[in-house]
Amino acid sequence: MRQHYGPDDRDGTAGTEVRGRRHDRRRREGLRDMTDTINPDATALLSDLVAVPSVNPRGAAEPAETPVAQRIADWCAAQGIAAEVRPVVDGRCNVVATVPGRDPGTAVLFESHLDTVEVEHMTTPPFTPTVRDGRLFGRGACDAKGPLAAFLIALRDVARSPQPPPRTVIVAGVADEEHEYRGVLRLLEDLERDATTKVSGAVVGEPTDLRAVVAHKGVMRCRIVATGPGGHSSRPWGLDNPIETIARVVTFLAEEVTPSLADAPHPLVGPASLVPALIGGGTGPNTVPNECAVSLDRRTLPGEDPEQVWRELRDRITDRFGEDVTVEPPFLTDLALDNDPGDRFVAGVRDVLARVGRDADAIGTGWGSDASKIAAAGIPAVVLGPGSIADAHTPDESIDLAELADAVEIARAIMLAPAPPH
Ligand SMILES: [Zn+2]
Repeated sequence: MRQHYGPDDRDGTAGTEVRGRRHDRRRREGLRDMTDTINPDATALLSDLVAVPSVNPRGAAEPAETPVAQRIADWCAAQGIAAEVRPVVDGRCNVVATVPGRDPGTAVLFESHLDTVEVEHMTTPPFTPTVRDGRLFGRGACDAKGPLAAFLIALRDVARSPQPPPRTVIVAGVADEEHEYRGVLRLLEDLERDATTKVSGAVVGEPTDLRAVVAHKGVMRCRIVATGPGGHSSRPWGLDNPIETIARVVTFLAEEVTPSLADAPHPLVGPASLVPALIGGGTGPNTVPNECAVSLDRRTLPGEDPEQVWRELRDRITDRFGEDVTVEPPFLTDLALDNDPGDRFVAGVRDVLARVGRDADAIGTGWGSDASKIAAAGIPAVVLGPGSIADAHTPDESIDLAELADAVEIARAIMLAPAPPH
């Protein structure tokens, strides 16, 4: 599909005022300006990727990400870069592009996701990218097609340079990050099968304002269900009402479980949290219900085992409410991200940020990413990308195009960093 740029952009003046403001802000913050200009190739590629819909089908058997994976493979072929579209599930695919390094035994992985969240209630056209005030608007602009476009343009630059990079560089766009992480799990299986190349570290593209995220929370979600005999609402006496039982469970959680989570914050990601997120029960306005259920969202800390968190919660609920209440096994768990504080790959990424005048401090976040699965496979993983999480999943998702350009410079510098001895 044709990308649509705002009329101001064609003469190269769009965003001048915004860039000026950013320049002043960076100077105040003591940061050296990087390019402070737009990278037209990164902008054009991002625009192309946003124009190909790839909404996560949430478990439905639809090849949601495959057209954008194919679009990336075609783009790579046009640049002379080897790229493969690899099936994941239900016709959905990852795309993996590779530029061989001088040391074929080690690789650095740049991973980002192809899928986006839904587009209902968007206030900007989701798949007709528009540029105004130095920003590109559209679904996936920052989460996560922006980071992926930056990685691909950096890969192209590395492929064009006369010297191969020190390490093999792999850029992977994966399916299903927004739902069940099946794309990254398949990518890790593929990497494990390739015994000749050891991946020494990974950069996972998400909108982090180009900060180095080295830790994030995980999650455990489960349902708590209360049941009762049910009956006519004119004769409620003696009938256990599951809605009243679940109300007591929610009160117990709020008063006796959740407050203690604040006592043990993690230094980078803060305290764990527990939220009753969905509730439902009853069948009609004149019937004593026979079931009520509440879904919990428990955000876990690095070092917490989600299954153990569930067992402890189940035991506390069972101790208090007995057999009337069932704490079902988790319907979703996701690992938290943790990295060895002394890891050399992580230090190398932070060195690059420092070199280009960016804030190089290691930070943590409450939201999750594919990085936790990569780190759990023994590969140090830093989440790093252009754009802000505050703009992700919003009705007017967008990305700052100067930051996108900076991301290309940073990704290229990481790709060209010397391989640590192994
Ligand atoms: Zn994302």
